[in-house]
Amino acid sequence: MGDVIDEKNDGAIITETGGMSDKAKSEDVKDIIQKIKNAKTVVVKVGTSTITHHNGTINLLIVEKLVRALSDLKNENKNVVLVTSGAIGVGCSRMGFTKKPESLPEKQALAAIGQVNLMHVYSRLFSEYGQIASQILLTKDVIEDEKRKLNAINTFNTLFRYGSIPIVNENDTVATEEIEFGDNDTLSAVVAVLVKADLLILLSDIDGLYDKNPKHHPDAKLIPVVYGVTRQIEENCQGTDNSFGTGGMVTKLAAAKICNSHGIPMVIANGDNPYNICRILNGEPVGTIFVPNGEEDKDERGAGESQKGEGGCYTAGQAIVQR
Ligand code: ADP
Repeated sequence: MGDVIDEKNDGAIITETGGMSDKAKSEDVKDIIQKIKNAKTVVVKVGTSTITHHNGTINLLIVEKLVRALSDLKNENKNVVLVTSGAIGVGCSRMGFTKKPESLPEKQALAAIGQVNLMHVYSRLFSEYGQIASQILLTKDVIEDEKRKLNAINTFNTLFRYGSIPIVNENDTVATEEIEFGDNDTLSAVVAVLVKADLLILLSDIDGLYDKNPKHHPDAKLIPVVYGVTRQIEENCQGTDNSFGTGGMVTKLAAAKICNSHGIPMVIANGDNPYNICRILNGEPVGTIFVPNGEEDKDERGAGESQKGEGGCYTAGQAIVQR
């Protein structure tokens, strides 16, 4: 535990054990930090508020730093996936709208406009660092149907084999209530599970999880380590204040639950400094780390190992073996 210190609170160590003190002992933070340092596959999610200005235009300085940090991870031979929000916000700004419209067709049309712009910027910047960006747009039905899920997994793994950096977003232009993830925190956790990631990093507009919403409570304290998301922790969180974004801490906790139940650690850190990604991978105490509580289904990580997928691709489990 010695590595995890809350710099913002006079060095005090604040840990949410979630009533899991025995398991907390079994999953030592130092082990997790070592696993993070050795991570082979990393999923990074950026929120709308991180990559866009208040008026919805792309924050080029932040996006440039983000691309640089991810390119550097790629140079270290890691598999990198970027899950990015912001399409609707960018679409709004392209159209000169100051507020996200209410109607579904309008939002979907703005996503179609914004997604092109967003990908254009990412693709150009990644090219400057010699990286090949690719785009994957997902809806929930992909993971609900085994064949489609396997296809998506094979595509991710082939892109890794090609050395490409997949950039993922919800396919907002076709998503309806029945098939939408609804927020990119959940989507990024699902992607982390699909690619058998070793780490999910959520870059947000806040330093991490606090014991209450710091936007409304100046005395709120950062929680550097969370073992298991409890009801108390969930009660301390509210939705987003950002007019273009969806989510807030509630969806980040949902993402943590998905990741942790699959044995994947998750970190929430501030996206104001995208180099936080490198600091986290260096094992530095940044933001809030959600430690898997040991209840994950170990069998699931190895599922499908004996089969080879179509077109010479590997099944989910085989991909792990290949790494
Ligand atoms: P992003 O778009 O960057 O993902 P969100 O707006 O979705 O950001 O989520 C972060 C916001 O969640 C914070 O800015 C804050 O207003 C809100 N929030 C609510 N409860 C908490 C909490 N307990 N700790 C930290 N942030 C909280």
